Amino acid sequence: MHVEDRGYQFSDGVYEVCEIHQGRLVDETRHLDRLERSLRELKIRMPMDRKALSHVLREVVRRNRVRHGLVYMQVTRGVSRRDHPFPSPEVQPALVVTAKSIDPAKGVKMAEKGIAVTTAPDNRWERVDIKTVGLLPNVLARQDAQEKGAQEAWLVDADGNVTEGSSTNAWIIKDGALITRHADRGILRGITRTVVVEVLAAEGLRLEERPFSVEEAKKADEAFVTSATKIVMPVVSIDGQAIGGGRPGPLVKRLRGAFRRHSELAAA
Ligand code: PLP
Repeated sequence: MHVEDRGYQFSDGVYEVCEIHQGRLVDETRHLDRLERSLRELKIRMPMDRKALSHVLREVVRRNRVRHGLVYMQVTRGVSRRDHPFPSPEVQPALVVTAKSIDPAKGVKMAEKGIAVTTAPDNRWERVDIKTVGLLPNVLARQDAQEKGAQEAWLVDADGNVTEGSSTNAWIIKDGALITRHADRGILRGITRTVVVEVLAAEGLRLEERPFSVEEAKKADEAFVTSATKIVMPVVSIDGQAIGGGRPGPLVKRLRGAFRRHSELAAA
């Protein structure tokens, strides 16, 4: 990376993380749609056309021989002498693509046990719907969670409502209804979240997209988080208080199973 890459100096860039399952990209189309949207919102050009980018992703996965894992792509506004306004004339956006293998047994083990979450103030900017590389508040919240022995931090707005996790969307289940914050500019519209919404409809389950408070979450029957990395991951405690007896509940287990049947696997 160049020292004057604007991603490095200003967090002036966006990224995507896509799961690789059985050597194939999961929900690639939706991830590339969101990448294009993030870039549009920041007035950054696509670094290459979509077909070429799709080819690059596959090549990186193939050459790294990844069967299960993640592909990471990052696009920044490019390299230019440090100055706040966009470079003029425009420079070529910088693209980085990496792929890494993850032992699938790790996620299975984690899901059997469930994870602990802590809560932290959501002090991010007002456009967290854009997947920018500016993640310092998320990093600090996650570090705080880790120091408290938890695996994720739920971010809480000024009204006491949970917005989302540091790198996941947040869900609770009460009396058979699945509750997650509505997707506006206050959360990242997770691809996994969108697929789970479709899974719920297919499974005949009830969805409520609305804010929920930390207090309401602590009284939930079940809780979970969603992301490309964690898929559907049960939450078994919030700030040290056990949820659903401190064990993954039946609906979360069912959803985790159903997710794989509904998520799209890109053609090899
Ligand atoms: N919310 C935040 C802040 C994230 O960083 C992520 C993923 O990185 C998500 C939600 C989940 O999004 P997805 O399901 O697309 O991975």
